[in-house]
Amino acid sequence: MSPFSYFRPDSIEAALAQHDGVLARYLAGGTNLIDLMKIDVEKPNAVIDVNRLALTAIESGNGALRIGALARMSDVAAHAAVVADYPVIAQALVASASPQLRNMASIGGNLLQRTRCSYFRDIAFAACNKRNPGSGCAALAGENRRHAVLGVSPSCIAVHPSDLAVALVALDATVHLRSTRGERALALDDFYVLPGNTPDKETRLQPGEMVVAVEVPASTVARHSTYLKIRDRAAFEFALVSAAVGVALAADGRIADARVALGGVGSKPWRARRAEALLVGEPPQPALFATAAAVALEGAQTQQQNAFKVELARRTLTRALRRAASTEEISWTAG
Ligand SMILES: Cc1cc2nc3c(=O)[nH]c(=O)nc-3n(C[C@H](O)[C@H](O)[C@H](O)COP(=O)(O)OP(=O)(O)OC[C@H]3O[C@@H](n4cnc5c(N)ncnc54)[C@H](O)[C@@H]3O)c2cc1C
Ligand code: SF4
Repeated sequence: MSPFSYFRPDSIEAALAQHDGVLARYLAGGTNLIDLMKIDVEKPNAVIDVNRLALTAIESGNGALRIGALARMSDVAAHAAVVADYPVIAQALVASASPQLRNMASIGGNLLQRTRCSYFRDIAFAACNKRNPGSGCAALAGENRRHAVLGVSPSCIAVHPSDLAVALVALDATVHLRSTRGERALALDDFYVLPGNTPDKETRLQPGEMVVAVEVPASTVARHSTYLKIRDRAAFEFALVSAAVGVALAADGRIADARVALGGVGSKPWRARRAEALLVGEPPQPALFATAAAVALEGAQTQQQNAFKVELARRTLTRALRRAASTEEISWTAG
């Protein structure tokens, strides 16, 4: 680990002022940042511990859910309003990491965690455009079973690792940001950017800018939402594929509103708006769900080892839609 200065400011203003806008990093739970510092992938000159900042509130009311950037994953997952009115968020969180990690890890840190691509995480491999711009991509001809099939580029095929981000993107969440220039809000879907030729740039976060909160509008579709995650083992594992969906039915039984987002397959949390449009206005039926799932995976670009993800994602999405449209009680357990 490279040497760094450590600061623990008491206010947002002091934290923003401490950031040099280049090499400094904010520290929340540290479950990703410290991990990457230990393996020399991250080498900040300064670590600004934000844990004293008043950003832990989880507030529900006035037509929205607002989650402070420092709220812990476990607290959000167990919050009564989240469980009742935004089940896809609670389920995505409970399916993430482990209880110990969820107690440490924050919402802001989760949204900004880096990819798990093994070439990105191992500096012995020189070729990684995300870690070392212009160096190539070792995964293209290497181990790519877990890599992305949607939104990829010839520069990078890394998958976005967050489960929470998939659920939030499905529900039209906005992310609230603070910098020395003031506050702004962005749709979370727009916050994440495609890799293109610059996979080192993953979000629209400006240097030194801080995530202060995430806001999710309340809706019927959010109340009828669910998260289905398929992984190599039942706990403590990232998604091979996942689906965050919501289905709201009208009085005549047809679909009034639908949300579809995929995880484990995209270079960013993957919202499938064409699939949603296909569902709305139709009676909920297995054949319709299968068609929507096929549409959601259109344009997938596979590599040598990850073609299986396309069919797995289709089946996962079909199952998740069936689940969200049913009136059955959904049983879900912690990972
Ligand atoms: C073994 C293991 C298994 C895991 N499994 C899963 C899984 O299944 N699903 C899943 O989604 N995640 C999984 N994770 C990832 C885990 O959820 C993240 O490490 C965690 O959410 C990061 O949150 P943190 O608060 O610890 O972030 P930190 O490590 O503190 O920060 C992460 C990044 O975000 C930046 N940052 C943090 N807060 C802010 C802020 N407010 N504003 C601006 N920048 C900020 C930091 O500078 C850093 O770059 C796993 C992790 C491990 C180690
Ligand atoms: S997939 Fe992306 S993160 Fe992985 S080696 Fe290629 S450039 Fe690096």
